[in-house]
Amino acid sequence: MSRVYNFSAGPAVLPEEVLKEAADEMLDFRGSGMSVMEMSHRSKTFEKIIKDAEADLRELMGIPDQYRVLFLQGGASQQFAMIPMNLMKNRVADYIVTGQWAKKAYQEAGLYGKANKVASSEDGTFSYIPDCSDLPISEDADYVYICENNTIYGTKFWTLPDTKGKPLVADVSSCFLSEPVDVSKYGLIYGGAQKNIGPAGVVIVIIREDLIREDVLPGTPTMLRYKVHADNASLYNTPPAYGIYICGKVFRWLIKRGGLAAMKEYNVAKAKILYDFLDASEMFYGTVRKEDRSLMNVPFVTGNAELDAKFVKEATQAGFVNLKGHRSVGGMRASIYNAMPIEGVEKLVGFMKKFEEENA
Ligand SMILES: *Cc1c(COP(=O)(O)O)cnc(C)c1O
Repeated sequence: MSRVYNFSAGPAVLPEEVLKEAADEMLDFRGSGMSVMEMSHRSKTFEKIIKDAEADLRELMGIPDQYRVLFLQGGASQQFAMIPMNLMKNRVADYIVTGQWAKKAYQEAGLYGKANKVASSEDGTFSYIPDCSDLPISEDADYVYICENNTIYGTKFWTLPDTKGKPLVADVSSCFLSEPVDVSKYGLIYGGAQKNIGPAGVVIVIIREDLIREDVLPGTPTMLRYKVHADNASLYNTPPAYGIYICGKVFRWLIKRGGLAAMKEYNVAKAKILYDFLDASEMFYGTVRKEDRSLMNVPFVTGNAELDAKFVKEATQAGFVNLKGHRSVGGMRASIYNAMPIEGVEKLVGFMKKFEEENA
């Protein structure tokens, strides 16, 4: 067996310990005689898996009692519609557009009501986070929307916007569980699992109870109502059971490592190795304004598309895979999620140094 260093933005690297444990339990989950994949989602065994997963997530994030945790499907993209369908009571919402994912969410909301773009960094190719300390928040806005970590561009909100009392809705797909979070500052937090938590197929929604309403937009499908999933404890229909089981293992792994404060310390140290190198290098440089840099997604370029391609090719041959930047921006991107060990980044930087020397 030979594992590579996988810098994919998602689906992405998972902790080896978790994968091994899942492999050990593949044929017989703890004496049940079957795999979690083969098990009724109404069984006592699975009920314990999903309840434990929720309890561990609540412990990790310190989720207050008045928030519900939902394990859903449809990916983060389905939330682009589900959020306005469920929350747009006045049919008005304010969007801060800091990348392609926020833009897609903004455009989708426009199908259901008046979506206002109250700030954007598109003028700078999304290379920074706009000042959100005094935005023209609409008086009747049902919520203010952000994408907290911009996976493609490598920016992160280090200060949350002043929403002037409106509920904050955040897509945290690519920074979920990467650092401690004050859940009480948000109305709704959501993310696809496949970036930093588990396999594709699970999306986790953490929603304040007062935002779970009966009077959703007319025509909202049953499956797209938060209330239906909340009332049924995420078991209205068959949930993505195996994915939830793996997410639960990752939550345990994070708790064992000391929780989110310890994880942040590790992630800061890890990202620093790469950013310090980029800042010192004569060949490679980062594309993001320094104060807005993400700890999870690090885009960089040489400024020469041919050299970029040569780098990606040689890196792949050396076992550093999925470093090609998003198709919309080019260059390179190293996604260094929770499960990327610090040695992976040290070795990548070693490889980059060597490449720089050889191609100077
Ligand atoms: C990947 C990603 C999405 C899209 O996720 P899907 O699960 O493929 O729909 C949305 N938002 C962010 C921030 C992402 O990184």
